[in-house]
Amino acid sequence: EWAAATTARQVVLAAPRSFCAGVERAISVVEQALDRHGPPVYVRKQIVHNLHVIADLQRRGAVFVDELTEIPDGATTVFSAHGVAPAVRQTAADRGLPVIDATCPLVTKVHSEARRFVGRGNTVLLIGHAGHEETEGTLGEAPGRIALVESVRDAERIEVADPDRVSYLVQTTLAVDEVAGVLDVLRRRFPALTGPASDDICYATTNRQAALREVAAVADVVLVLGSANSSNSRRLVEVTERGGTPAYLVDDVEQVDLRWLAGVRTIGVTAGASAPPWLVDQTVAALAGLGADAVREHTTRTEDVHFTLPKEIRTP
Ligand code: SF4
Repeated sequence: EWAAATTARQVVLAAPRSFCAGVERAISVVEQALDRHGPPVYVRKQIVHNLHVIADLQRRGAVFVDELTEIPDGATTVFSAHGVAPAVRQTAADRGLPVIDATCPLVTKVHSEARRFVGRGNTVLLIGHAGHEETEGTLGEAPGRIALVESVRDAERIEVADPDRVSYLVQTTLAVDEVAGVLDVLRRRFPALTGPASDDICYATTNRQAALREVAAVADVVLVLGSANSSNSRRLVEVTERGGTPAYLVDDVEQVDLRWLAGVRTIGVTAGASAPPWLVDQTVAALAGLGADAVREHTTRTEDVHFTLPKEIRTP
């Protein structure tokens, strides 16, 4: 047990951590929809990738489904923060479903870039992970004209119709260092490669990774609060491990295995952009109960981003 550890046992919290502006907005959308229309409110896919957020909203009357076919006619429908392909939007419109779109504006930005590049006649290489809802949505902007590149290996192999007309886009929640490696290869292979004017990896992903990297440098182990299907949370674990510090992704403090803390002096703690702040508070309290005698925060940046709610729920 941890008591067997040595002298100074401290917790260092990475800041920024936890909810981003897009997640706060998406959760508010569901809450407001429940307030205005009453339950049930149907949400296509998980509103954000966190099981505690989902469980809480389910208790309040949100119903999470995988596909639109599971939603009854006329039912209030919310699209998740990760965005949807145009075909999904069209199907909902054809059915006349009252839709409130909780897609993060920074994901919408990537969709518009996809349309712009494809409109110029370019092939788009989307750096991202297969099967994630965000990449499925972005790929859906121009089926057949956007190809997924998941790794340096993919970047070395991908073939395009015209190497002089290639653009790239990036999933918003990837690891900054990993994407740089993939881009190096793509730029070498396609010197005419064009990309977005501003980074697609969003501010929240970038800031959480940068803060954690500094915390990990002084920590013996890192705990990342977040769910297994949360892309940005998983990247936090990977970035830490690449830096040589062991890291564990946990949904909550219950999942912390005390063996991870044996002999450890400094524990770094962070939370993915979809993980609620109370999970961090609960973890810190538990670590204090286990004998952590100091808790400090390491802040690399302050965030002041806020997105307005969709018009369907903004107007009184
Ligand atoms: Fe938007 Fe970034 Fe948050 Fe995703 S992680 S919801 S892209 S702000």
